[in-house]
Amino acid sequence: MGDLDGLNGLVVGVANRRSLAWSIARAADAAGARLTLSYANDRFGEKTRALAATLSRPAQLLACDVTRDDEIEALCRAVDAEHGGLDFLVHGVAFASREAISEPFVETTRDDFRQALDVSAYSLIALARGAAPLMERRGGGSILTLTYLGSGRVFPNYNVMGVAKAALEASVRYLASDLGPRNIRANAISAGPIKTLAASGIAGFTHILQHYRERAPLRRTAESTEVADAAVFLLGPRSGAVTGEVLMVDAGYHVTGM
Ligand code: NAD
Repeated sequence: MGDLDGLNGLVVGVANRRSLAWSIARAADAAGARLTLSYANDRFGEKTRALAATLSRPAQLLACDVTRDDEIEALCRAVDAEHGGLDFLVHGVAFASREAISEPFVETTRDDFRQALDVSAYSLIALARGAAPLMERRGGGSILTLTYLGSGRVFPNYNVMGVAKAALEASVRYLASDLGPRNIRANAISAGPIKTLAASGIAGFTHILQHYRERAPLRRTAESTEVADAAVFLLGPRSGAVTGEVLMVDAGYHVTGM
């Protein structure tokens, strides 16, 4: 018996095999879940299809640009038609323009700010709104997003993404409060730095990785499989009383002072 046996899950944000969303999808599949995988647009369709073929049970595959309310509504309708309700949602989506995370922070433009916050934070609220009625019909559910320590501390070149992560974490708390009476939980995992497509856009990312190897209590960063294991815990019944939480999965880096 897996922790997620018989549960229906929607995982948003698969781009390639390195995506944290994909690591979580693989672990959720191994734990028994039936999945829908969602990717930003058709450019990622083939890759996602090839990945999904390696899962132990067939997954529904759908494109969804999370800046489009109509696409989010269509995604939720299609999930409902396929699975008849939803038990968990994984939000693994973020974007900021290259300029916004390389120019000095004070130069952040209004458009770059709006785009980063829209894709990386507002999308969680929109997806939660679409998913909540599907979860309610299953007696409740679990919503999980992915964040980074740059929400509360300054990291080089993280810039507007740090502001977006602060908004994302606050959104988790407000969603937890709002949806809790419907037995829907909302949590985040704050992951240590892991080489993915999104991370490769951050100049000096290898320097940040090296810093974790030198300073984190465990002298390393987190592995994507460790993020995925924590995700399975937060998505399933074993974390039934946990909501509004940001779980640090970062080899302990966040406790260091210097
Ligand atoms: P990734 O590039 O694999 O995932 C980001 C995903 O966001 C991609 O699938 C991309 O297509 C999707 N996306 C961007 N704009 C979109 C849009 N408009 N509509 C739909 N999808 C869109 O990288 P990742 O590192 O796996 O990122 C997943 C999450 O994990 C992000 O929120 C990221 O900030 C967070 N995170 C990553 C790290 C890390 O070091 N990699 C650490 C902490 C948190």
